[in-house]
This record gives sequence, structure tokens and C-alpha cells, in this order.
Amino acid sequence: MELSLKILARCDLVLSVLNQPEIRPKTAREIFYQLRSDSATAMGFTTVSRCLKRLTELGIVTAIDLGKHEAYYELAAKGHHDYMICDSCGSATPVLGCPFHVHREKVAEIEMKYKFEIREHKLLVFGNCITCSDTQKDAQ
Ligand SMILES: [Zn+2]
Ligand SMILES: [Zn+2]
Repeated sequence: MELSLKILARCDLVLSVLNQPEIRPKTAREIFYQLRSDSATAMGFTTVSRCLKRLTELGIVTAIDLGKHEAYYELAAKGHHDYMICDSCGSATPVLGCPFHVHREKVAEIEMKYKFEIREHKLLVFGNCITCSDTQKDAQ
């Protein structure tokens, strides 16, 4: 009991990383590195992973499979987003104004055409983020 409470107290730090204004899901490794940059918040990778597992079980955090070998995490309260995933650095940027939500008539058309009732969708877009494409340009 004592130990699990201690773990949950530290989980607040994991939550604070996910609660930053930029809406961007992060991997356990990214969260670990971010917390480690300050000695006051540094914690072991196992603790970070355990916190994420616990927070996911509690429904506070959502684990997202973006087709990479690592899971990405974001606050459940942030709602539905689709992502653009960078081939080079693996960063995930949300697509704001998801085409599926914006073009509802188009979605209705698809449902009619295929006689398929769409419940959910996941849009994964792969390419290069601005930081990586700038670095590549500099290298040339
Ligand atoms: Zn990148
Ligand atoms: Zn969407």
C-alpha cells in the first residue's frame, strides 16, 4: 500500500509531462528523458513505465498504437486526434480539424456507397516533421 501510494505520487510528474499545452502524445522513453533533465523530477524508466500502465488502467491516460514499436501516451481528456508521424525522429503531431470530422457529408457518402456504418477511424500520416526536414536541408 505504502509503496503503491509512493508510485502514484510520482505519477503526478508523468501526468504533468503529458499535460503540457502542446498536444502531442509521447512515448515512455520521451517522458523519461524529459523528467530526467531536472534532478528534482528524475525517476527510473521502470517507474515511468509502471506509472503509465497504472494511469492507463485508471482511464486517465490513453495508450495509442501509431504503428511504431513503442506505444504513445496522451491524456484521455484530450479526446480524439489523428496523427502525423515523423519517419526520422518519431514525433507525433496531431492533425487538428480531422478530415473525418470536417467533411461529414463525405463520410456519409462513403457509408452509403459501401453500406458500412463507420464507428471509429484512425488516420496515420507518415512523413517528415519540420525540424527533420530543416536538418536535412542544412546537410545538403
Ligand atoms: Zn522529425
Ligand atoms: Zn479523426
